[in-house]
Amino acid sequence: KTEGCDSNLPKKANIDVKHVVLVLSGKGGVGKSTVSVNLAYALSNHGFKTGLMDLDIHGPSIPKMLGLEDHKLQIMGEKIQPVSVTGSLAVISMAFLLPERSTPVIWRGPMKMTAIQQFLSDVNWGPLDFLVVDLPPGTGDEALSIIQLAPNIAGAIIVTTPQDVAVLDSSKALKFVEQIGIRPLGIIENMSGMVCPHCKESIDLFGKDGGMKAAEEFKVPFLGSIPLDIDMRKAGDEGKPFIIRRGDSPTWAAVDAVMEKL
Ligand code: ADP
Repeated sequence: KTEGCDSNLPKKANIDVKHVVLVLSGKGGVGKSTVSVNLAYALSNHGFKTGLMDLDIHGPSIPKMLGLEDHKLQIMGEKIQPVSVTGSLAVISMAFLLPERSTPVIWRGPMKMTAIQQFLSDVNWGPLDFLVVDLPPGTGDEALSIIQLAPNIAGAIIVTTPQDVAVLDSSKALKFVEQIGIRPLGIIENMSGMVCPHCKESIDLFGKDGGMKAAEEFKVPFLGSIPLDIDMRKAGDEGKPFIIRRGDSPTWAAVDAVMEKL
């Protein structure tokens, strides 16, 4: 009998949020942060009060993508202030805790859990419709902590590139999500092909349809594919989020998919 064990589980954090959306990938560099930023932006453009939480402490790229690289945490009263990006979008990042960008982070699991607890409970978010959480690649401490601590988790979006290794890793992320009882909202395939600027042929640099096949195999929604796009890379480097036009945009499809599940 396991009665009484529940008291050992950490309590849910005290945050007023209707829907928490996790963004995961099996490996790094597949565009998870790009998707998180654009998804959060798209939700805030829909008029939802949105928070974006960057938990990728070993490779926090969200501050760069939003032009907030030199920002440090500000405390007001007893609360940490998130950075306002638009009237309805605020962001907090593990990077804001680091003394210097080049400092390697050596944190044990419990320290990460404490930071995540503070990012949920001690940040002056105000009431949120959505909290988009950009997790580090894989299925480590950060993913487990947020799942234990965050209330109202709507589900997880898995980002992958089309090649076999990435798909294999994303399958692990999917199995992890399902095992832990989080609803997979769907898969986004990023960097799927690029149009040659010279001959206009589409080149499948990382293979083809891997994300779609994984979605079929695991019976989860396929939310669409994002091509390799030089403007998207530039947008990331310049600190200006890139939202593709509605209609052909997987980030918008992801927004619709998230909203459909509510
Ligand atoms: P992750 O969070 O998975 O590590 P990022 O979102 O940081 O990946 O993306 C890695 C790099 O690839 C960034 O420089 C980003 O701007 C770029 N990038 C992501 N998606 C695309 C795309 N579809 N086309 C071009 N560049 C992209």
